[in-house]
Amino acid sequence: MNHLKQNLNNVRSRISSACESAGRNPGEVALLAVSKKHSGELVRELHRLGQPCFGENYVREALEKMKQLAREELEWHFIGPLQSNKTREVAENFHWVQSVDRLKIARRLSDQRPDGKPPLNICIQVNIDLEPQKAGAMPDNVKELADAARSMPNLRLRGLMAIPRAASAQHDPADSYQRMQRLLRQLNEDGLQLDTLSMGMSADLEAAIMHGSTMVRIGTDLFGPRPVNVET
Ligand SMILES: *Cc1c(COP(=O)(O)O)cnc(C)c1O
Repeated sequence: MNHLKQNLNNVRSRISSACESAGRNPGEVALLAVSKKHSGELVRELHRLGQPCFGENYVREALEKMKQLAREELEWHFIGPLQSNKTREVAENFHWVQSVDRLKIARRLSDQRPDGKPPLNICIQVNIDLEPQKAGAMPDNVKELADAARSMPNLRLRGLMAIPRAASAQHDPADSYQRMQRLLRQLNEDGLQLDTLSMGMSADLEAAIMHGSTMVRIGTDLFGPRPVNVET
């Protein structure tokens, strides 16, 4: 027996309290369950407890779970680094891609989205702390990428996503979240109509909600620690 139900209740109540502290309506913050490295069976259980949306980082692993869960109505979000040679499978199988960080990837996703499917929801991933080895568009390049993505027929640009630098004595992720909030506001003042700010993980969803997150991505606090020995 696992503690999924209790974990889900705990995370939901953390979201509600954070919204209350921030003077926001809890309905404004969606929960994305990050299921990477966890089994399809756990995804099924959490779905049956009322969780509709799941995030995956690895294409092959995600496709296996989708096949296993084909009869459930799940909403799948791709949140991992995306190489060009994997865009087709992602465009064909996911509902959202939150890790778009360059023009080439956006263009391929739009071109490869199958006819008959609704536009693919996307977020631009922002390298908000300018970390050299991290994925994400640099903040100064986001506007140009957003304008380009917005004009692509099979994409629907929904907003921004970020994974800030880890918390330390030198860095408070709340600062990164605040910069993300300003960036989204600026884009909306420039006429984009973006409704999604995907930020906040198990350790810091409260700070993210304080700074305008509309979607927290939670793995560990829902499913427990990720198994280390799973091939991906
Ligand atoms: C793994 C992952 C998460 C979940 O992190 P936890 O700390 O386990 O909640 C969220 N977002 C992204 C992009 C991830 O890769």
